[in-house]
Amino acid sequence: MKSASTRTSAIELAYEPLTLTTTHPFGISYGTSSDTNNVLVRLTLGEHVGLGEAAPASYHGESQATVLAVLGEIKKASILGDDPFAVASIMTAMDRLVAGHNSAKAAVEMALQDLAGKIAGQPLYKLLGLSGSPQPMTDFTIGIDSLEMVEMKTREALDQGFKMLKVKQGTTYDREIIETIRKVAGDIPLRVDANGAWTPKQAIAMSRFLAKHDVEFIEQPLPKFASADDFRYVRQHSAVPIFADESVCRANDVARLAGAVDGVVVKLAKTGGISEALKVIHVARAYQLKIMFGCMIESSIGVTAAAHLSSLVDYLDLDGAMLLKNDPFDGAYYDSGYLRVKDEPGLGVKARQK
Ligand code: MG
Repeated sequence: MKSASTRTSAIELAYEPLTLTTTHPFGISYGTSSDTNNVLVRLTLGEHVGLGEAAPASYHGESQATVLAVLGEIKKASILGDDPFAVASIMTAMDRLVAGHNSAKAAVEMALQDLAGKIAGQPLYKLLGLSGSPQPMTDFTIGIDSLEMVEMKTREALDQGFKMLKVKQGTTYDREIIETIRKVAGDIPLRVDANGAWTPKQAIAMSRFLAKHDVEFIEQPLPKFASADDFRYVRQHSAVPIFADESVCRANDVARLAGAVDGVVVKLAKTGGISEALKVIHVARAYQLKIMFGCMIESSIGVTAAAHLSSLVDYLDLDGAMLLKNDPFDGAYYDSGYLRVKDEPGLGVKARQK
């Protein structure tokens, strides 16, 4: 028979909307916005509280409303139990309860791992068997905007000490955007993200222009549901490496595009959490693919969780929290090109003093 004390030791799930505002309106090929509607998750067990964040994207079939609904289902189904170290079985239970909804599941796993780390008194990267270094530098993203604004944002990024830029593409003036940034930023490392805006022919033509401007690689040149054959065709004719982002969520997507791309972009909001992100990374390595760890527009909770895995990848695009006007959380911090996690238990994230 369960005692009252056993019943009160179940992990408690609480969640609330988390609305974030970017410093500048953030433009990508799908559209431009200033507000991002995420969800904050808190898991409580005894004296410890684990934090997680869902960063839903409409192009992955999620919204703040769907995340709140799925978290409600998870709470109702009482699948979290009383052991935050039982991550694998909890993630399997969530996948059985509801398919997809990966950003909601990622938020729960971040909070579980944060909780487990706090109980163990160890940072997440150590719980995962990682050393935390070496890690690649992180880039900073210049969103789609007028050429005047692109120039201003580039100067601002350089003034803030960013040493590597990612450039959003998918306009009628993509070449002018690159020329403007190269004029202002000299030979700074540049990579490009078309967010699915190009046809195979456009992608190949752009690759030749981008190669002349020393762009390292193109992220998601083709739409999310483009075939592996189309990606393979672009890769064979492209003058720069091709990475898949929107087209790759979980590990089985990596297998589908193996041989058709040079690399993949991993994001917790797409994989459904840290464990599946590790699977994506290991499957990608098995196919000898390059890996970039990216993020959505998210606070320091989501970005810090990703930063704990950064020693496993080749490229980092973890600027989500640095694009915000007011990040409500304090976690991984920018240090001369690198995003450093704090050597604190769990994620090492705290609410900022207001
Ligand atoms: Mg991308």
